[in-house]
Amino acid sequence: MDFISINPYTNQQIATYSELSEEALNQKIIKGQSAFEAWRTVSFEVRAKVFIKAAEILRTKTEIYAQTITLEMGKPIAEARLEVEKCAWVCEYYAENAERFLATKTIETDAHESYVVYEPLGGVLAIMPWNFPFWQVFRFVAPTLMAGNVGLLKHAANVMGSAIHIEEILTEAGLPDGVFQNLIIGHETVERLIANPFVKAVTLTGSERAGSAVAAAAGKNIKKSLLELGGSNAFVVLADADLDKTTDVAIAARYRNSGQSCIAGKRFIVVAEVYDAFLSLFKEKVAALKSGDPMQEGIQIGTLAKADFAINLHKQVTDSIEMGAEVMIGGTYNGAYYAPTILVNVNAKMPVFREEVFGPVAPIMKVKNAEEALNVAKDTAFGLGISIFTQDLQKVKTYISQVADASFFVNELVKSDPRLPFGGTGISGYGRELSQEGILEFVNVKTVYIK
Ligand code: NDP
Repeated sequence: MDFISINPYTNQQIATYSELSEEALNQKIIKGQSAFEAWRTVSFEVRAKVFIKAAEILRTKTEIYAQTITLEMGKPIAEARLEVEKCAWVCEYYAENAERFLATKTIETDAHESYVVYEPLGGVLAIMPWNFPFWQVFRFVAPTLMAGNVGLLKHAANVMGSAIHIEEILTEAGLPDGVFQNLIIGHETVERLIANPFVKAVTLTGSERAGSAVAAAAGKNIKKSLLELGGSNAFVVLADADLDKTTDVAIAARYRNSGQSCIAGKRFIVVAEVYDAFLSLFKEKVAALKSGDPMQEGIQIGTLAKADFAINLHKQVTDSIEMGAEVMIGGTYNGAYYAPTILVNVNAKMPVFREEVFGPVAPIMKVKNAEEALNVAKDTAFGLGISIFTQDLQKVKTYISQVADASFFVNELVKSDPRLPFGGTGISGYGRELSQEGILEFVNVKTVYIK
């Protein structure tokens, strides 16, 4: 099977990639196994040098990588550059902190000596999506490899060029052969790979459907899995919010990356007192967004990553309209381009509220007060995060324990930061990435007890 990469803006084919043969894959597994035996003994200092160098390469060649990202999946070039910069940050972060995070921990017991050591597992397979084709991979690679594991990547079929760059960056940074390998493989091979004794754990970022299939394969083989799946974050605007700042954040939360982010604000819940004022400011700012060729400077809305996605998104919009929603702006598409859209008269039964909306569509619901806002926000099976906009920083803290999401942001969009744990609850997945919690996901927490 060949994987075809298509520029979603021009609809032109960029490249084709041939699937790895069975024999080539076996060779890579053997190489990975022997690479692990050596890499696990390498000091943190030496591993850190590789990631410091990788950060330097990312910064030096940002333009090359950003262009590949934009060509393959259609995000505005300025956003692609920021993505590459963020990868450099996560490399440096784990280069500086991994040793401290994994330091041996002495615990007083009745033993002569008792302590915990954190040892690498071996091969960890990452199945990654196309929406942040560099960031999602570096977010996995930096902690996992700094901990002494070796990584295998199955990237999304449409961003194989990004995957190849990432392998090249790590090789140029001095990572020994076999410690990170990009695999051009399809779904069926993934299942077989998970069963292979070399693979000790698997991590997936993507849809619920993919997460459930991969976690089932991991469970069948009694292997650890980590899932970072979709979300439908509530973006709650209370009566005392600073509306100018809040609408600026709302624009970034919903329309960055054409709305294709798991942690994007996807359900806008606004209290009646400020609903009209919020809507008029928000609409003005949405109308001012510049759509066009994502390669051009100044463009804020490129295309969705594939033309199919626009069709699926439009169905969610039209089904919601049939149920009573009204288009305030947008609501149209052309190829992979979907116009920035606002929907009003929305209720919690509509697809745009119940399902993940992976595109530039903002459904807005009017609610009576903070209490109703919170109840609507909680009415979801997803659990990545919530953003609440208010000036009452004491009161808002009383809401923290009322929501089940994995993150709670006040006066800011939900965003990932290498220093903070990142993940989900409910159908948004389990496990944590980033920070100390992230690096602890793929280690053997070994108890040592010496009487
Ligand atoms: P998928 O979940 O299908 O793709 C994500 C990754 O999983 C890709 O590498 C894909 O490979 C792989 N994959 C999918 N199914 C399997 C399987 N059964 N076994 C092994 N690997 C698998 O996302 P889509 O691209 O189809 O996007 C659909 C929707 O998923 C989006 O609209 C959005 O709702 C959600 N999504 C969420 C993301 C997030 O950040 N949480 C990211 C991307 C999508 P391949 O490309 O070869 O199919």
